[in-house]
Amino acid sequence: MENNIIPQEFLNEEGEPMGACLMCGEKFREDSVYTVTKVYKNYPRLDSCQLLFEHAVCLDCVEKTKGSLSEASKQALEEYQQANVTVTPEALERWSECCLFSGIRLADEEEYAYYGIFGGGQIMEGTFPFAVGQTAMEEMYALLSASTKEFLDNFIDKHFSGPPEWKELMKDSPVVLF
Ligand SMILES: [Zn+2]
Repeated sequence: MENNIIPQEFLNEEGEPMGACLMCGEKFREDSVYTVTKVYKNYPRLDSCQLLFEHAVCLDCVEKTKGSLSEASKQALEEYQQANVTVTPEALERWSECCLFSGIRLADEEEYAYYGIFGGGQIMEGTFPFAVGQTAMEEMYALLSASTKEFLDNFIDKHFSGPPEWKELMKDSPVVLF
């Protein structure tokens, strides 16, 4: 299927739009609203990067997930994001090159993730795709309450199907929180 509207960064490994929600399994329709997360690890010596994890989550499940986080964690994340995000035209233009929060080039990070929200087969109106580098992920993870960290660990245990050593990499990053 030809697809020119969803940026290629958010298509699956086969180059198709993501098909179903990771959490509830519901298949996406034309008008479904869902988030896509892609997590990469850099291998600077090989000058390459590896996709560790890609998933899509429907809006209902995103809301449920957010509802499972502690109030303290939610507030800490909100404050961190408000303090660190500077949305400039350049930042939006170069969203796939630098972390939205730290401004660090993704090529200089060990891991990074892309996030986007989609609706009606395109980027959701009023939103923009962004990237988060490992530095900012670790800073955010450090702000979370113990119960939220446990929730995230369980989430990865339940949904991550890659190699065990990758699973450990995923566990210190709040990759499901956006
Ligand atoms: Zn769902």
